[in-house]
Amino acid sequence: MARNLGPQCRNCRTERKQLFLKGERCKGPNCAITKKRGAPGKGQRFRMRKVSDYGLQLREKQKLKRMYGMLERQFKIFFNKANKMKGVTGENLIRLLERRLDTVVYRMRFASSRKQARQLVSHGHVRVNDKRVNIPSYILRQGDKVEIRERSKKLLVIKESLKEYSRSGVVPWLDVDPDNMFGILKTIPSRNDVIDLADIKEQLIVELYSK
Ligand code: SF4
Repeated sequence: MARNLGPQCRNCRTERKQLFLKGERCKGPNCAITKKRGAPGKGQRFRMRKVSDYGLQLREKQKLKRMYGMLERQFKIFFNKANKMKGVTGENLIRLLERRLDTVVYRMRFASSRKQARQLVSHGHVRVNDKRVNIPSYILRQGDKVEIRERSKKLLVIKESLKEYSRSGVVPWLDVDPDNMFGILKTIPSRNDVIDLADIKEQLIVELYSK
């Protein structure tokens, strides 16, 4: 029903793509995209309009930014970091985004969405290398240990999220011990490892910011 669709679904409708902003709940039957709901507030005439190169670049950037739940300023900071690194800027950007603490907490199945992971981190439930870190955008390094704080291990949201671990495991660049609620960032993923972003054209984002 329309009233159950929060702003997150509006983001997907704007991008006309499943951005999985509600995590596991997106696999249910109520996803606005699988129900083929159109862009919010836009009529057929809008959908038929030819999109300019700038429009394509902008949409690609908005998609990626929304998937990681970031605001423009922070996203640009990440882009600038990626631009200063050796290698291909677009690939560096995605690899950097995958090293964010909230993303890793989500990927380790301690949270069912990035939004929930961000809350866990900012509320102090997460430790990195035995120290509490409450900055969701904290960039992890290879070999870092991410752990749920001892007294947070009884939280129902974490236990519920971890059920997904037994169903589908984790991405190959992470090692997780679900019983003891910790994991290790084994390696930094390559661009091709991040298969849920396979259809993101990061080169368009590079072109947009290079203007
Ligand atoms: Fe909503 Fe579907 Fe987007 Fe999930 S993927 S946020 S359910 S529209």
